[in-house]
Amino acid sequence: MLNLKKLLDGSASSLSFSVNVTDCSFVDEAKSGTACAEAVITNHSGLILLEGKINASITVPCARCDKEFNYTATIPLTAKITESLANEDEDEYIILQDYSFDEEDLVRTTLILELPSRYLCNEDCKGLCPKCGCDLNVKECSCNQKESDPRWDVLKDFFSE
Ligand SMILES: [Zn+2]
Ligand SMILES: [Zn+2]
Repeated sequence: MLNLKKLLDGSASSLSFSVNVTDCSFVDEAKSGTACAEAVITNHSGLILLEGKINASITVPCARCDKEFNYTATIPLTAKITESLANEDEDEYIILQDYSFDEEDLVRTTLILELPSRYLCNEDCKGLCPKCGCDLNVKECSCNQKESDPRWDVLKDFFSE
């Protein structure tokens, strides 16, 4: 938990913190991984803003070929914090309890929300053959040889007219 009392009583104008997440397996798809977050919280005459970033490095399977690889990302970490809600939309704010909030929970929630739900080892990953299951990045099987190339279909149409 992070205590913001100094920020609220005016004895500090900003507070910084860092969080290290040593096991990211709670993130969808992630087998393992780590993340480190750094942020600064400032009090703008009552409006408390948190701004920072998370560097994440996780091991995930490719959605096409299933090979595990390392995915890294830098994710913005931002939040609005308040002591108590008046009429504001509750979802937008972190509400302090005893001047404190759970900064680790904020980092974990941000990772879950902001990391993609599927990953590709490479934009051009050819994936696995749907028939024989071989990794088409590594070798070419003969399953799809008889399927026509769409470029030839255009020519066939042209000649049949
Ligand atoms: Zn792949
Ligand atoms: Zn095949």
